[in-house]
Amino acid sequence: MKQHLERLIALQEADLRLEEIAERKRRIPEMVEAARQPLLTAQATRDSLKQELDKLTKDRKTCEQDLAAQEQTISKLQDRTTKGEIKTNREYQAHLVEVELAKKKKGEIEEQLLILMDQVDTRKKDLAQAEAAVKEADKRFAAEKASLEGSVGALDEELAALKQKREAMVAAIEPTLLRTYEKLRRSKKGHALAGVNKDGTCMACRLHVQPQVVAEVKRAATIHTCEHCQRILYWTGEPVQIIPQPERKGDEVEVEETAETTE
Ligand SMILES: [Zn+2]
Repeated sequence: MKQHLERLIALQEADLRLEEIAERKRRIPEMVEAARQPLLTAQATRDSLKQELDKLTKDRKTCEQDLAAQEQTISKLQDRTTKGEIKTNREYQAHLVEVELAKKKKGEIEEQLLILMDQVDTRKKDLAQAEAAVKEADKRFAAEKASLEGSVGALDEELAALKQKREAMVAAIEPTLLRTYEKLRRSKKGHALAGVNKDGTCMACRLHVQPQVVAEVKRAATIHTCEHCQRILYWTGEPVQIIPQPERKGDEVEVEETAETTE
């Protein structure tokens, strides 16, 4: 029976690994999406900087046009004196004020233009950095994606090899025991077997197993299940030394391999 139990333990290990591989394969598209996130963030930053730069460039152009218009206004005002349109001193005083105001406005536009030019320069630099970051993120994402998608092949190979190995394993297990295992596996999320700790607890449900059962699990002469979670139990502590002890009572004599029976 000990051998059967060992085969079951090996089968459970294979089944858990199969499930793990399948899960990893299932998760690959999601992992690719996660790997894409830094690229999307970098692109969003770049796009918003580009929008800002476009707006600033437009503002600068408008400002330049405003400046040209204002220069034309001043030039027209100044023409009035050369064309002799101003006749009186009073008109001349008013004209000077008008020119002064127009020049002041021009000065304000120039100031605004300088600020805008400065902002355009800064944004251009920011945008260049953001473009470089996008390129870098794109490169990194492409590498990660290729690596993730490339791992599918290796996982498929392992899956195929393990499935084949499993068939051989299953063939060596007593059918009734195998049925019990499969039934438990379905209801226990893959964990049909549970180890018993040195302190006598079931490693799956963490509850105490009766000392008598623990002793029998150690001997592995028959199949025992956990009375709390129903899983098939096996011993995880030190291997039991089976030494015939003549001074003990007859019922204590332990035999390593008994006739294999199933429950
Ligand atoms: Zn249990």
